[in-house]
Amino acid sequence: MSSGSSFLHTYDVKGEKVYFHSLTLELYRSPAQCPSPEREQELLASYRRKAGENSGIIMGCMFLTTRCARRCGYCFLQDVQRGDMSTAEIDAGLELIGSGPADLLLYGGEPFLRPDLILHVIRRVRNSGAEINLSAATGGVPVDPPLAGELASADAFIIVSIDGPPAVHNSVRHLINGENSFEMAEEAFHLFRNAGCRVGISVTLTEENIETAREDFLWLLDHFEPDDMGLNPWLHPLKGGRVNPMQTTGPGILEAVVSCMETAIDRGMYIEQLARRVRPFACRTPRLKDCASAGGRLVQVPGGTAGTCDCMTVCGDHGVNLEDTGDLKGLLSRFRDLSPVNFPDCITCPVLSLCGGGCRYDAYHASGVLSGSRTERCSFEREFLRWMIERSVARGRASLIPAGGFDTCAMPMPVGTMIGEEQSVDS
Ligand code: SF4
Ligand code: SF4
Repeated sequence: MSSGSSFLHTYDVKGEKVYFHSLTLELYRSPAQCPSPEREQELLASYRRKAGENSGIIMGCMFLTTRCARRCGYCFLQDVQRGDMSTAEIDAGLELIGSGPADLLLYGGEPFLRPDLILHVIRRVRNSGAEINLSAATGGVPVDPPLAGELASADAFIIVSIDGPPAVHNSVRHLINGENSFEMAEEAFHLFRNAGCRVGISVTLTEENIETAREDFLWLLDHFEPDDMGLNPWLHPLKGGRVNPMQTTGPGILEAVVSCMETAIDRGMYIEQLARRVRPFACRTPRLKDCASAGGRLVQVPGGTAGTCDCMTVCGDHGVNLEDTGDLKGLLSRFRDLSPVNFPDCITCPVLSLCGGGCRYDAYHASGVLSGSRTERCSFEREFLRWMIERSVARGRASLIPAGGFDTCAMPMPVGTMIGEEQSVDS
């Protein structure tokens, strides 16, 4: 019996004690069921080995341009101007990604301000025969239908940022030229959908919309019937680490997220950020990294700079010259061990092998070190785990899986964000 285990955490669920083990991801009725200290050390060592494996570049992210059509109140790029990438930079990045399998996100700014570069990527990927899943993020700007058709034939996944019904969306995501921001996002959604693309909606939760999050979420589901949803309550700090002025705080975050999640489970809707917690918990497949930036992501920003984290690279931190492959390899290798299983302060945390460490950029600015943590995010992660445990005890773990399973319609889970998840605890 190992009831003194630092991996065993006690929960009181409706007056009954249950024990959650942060390595086996198992729920026990008695601490006597806890694995031996030897088995615990064996599991921890295997997770550390897994986290440190070099799987090459499994995810690319190209900031095709940092220019945008909008001035969203929470954008971490609002003080960053780097111009546009060149086709030569794109070609060099694709060369580094190689034959895959990998995911490639076309990002910005507003990437659709450079349709020529998007077309260039599609054609280069197609001609190379590389196994690369394309996705592109947009706030919604006019796009020529033939380009949408090219994206559909490349099986690209399009993510349109829409924060809620028109009044909610327009209050935060202003267009520079004053036109109706929601209408343009809506037009873009339908254009891509009608062209045959899979289209998801990404919602950012802020002080402005946290109180109406559930009704806005339902409205978006009914109005658009998207292929998946993103729901992000954690805003990145602005350049230089300044706290994002629109970051929402307090218990309202958990309430909003859980109520959207319950709706999504009932409606068979996949929410990317939450599936990253629910899937490893429900399937007992540890998630060792939350983001491929921990050693497997190639980020490119205009001007030939590369890095492994979107925000760091575009804001000028931890970037290297794209052509200096030695520097790039060194950078990826330095980030590779960034997993909670390697952080002394995380070892006694119940979500040790579920949270993946969250966003390294946010944690870096909150703590001053790459291996640090962002306290309020960690509190949220632990409370979200409590919700998963309570629901599992009451209704079984399967009650956390969206109707129809995790894979229906959703963007193919980026290999780069699944680190550890392909392996079950018992395998
Ligand atoms: S560490 Fe954070 S900012 Fe960097 S790529 Fe990952 S999620 Fe984005
Ligand atoms: S929630 Fe925070 S403290 Fe807990 S494992 Fe994740 S990063 Fe570490």
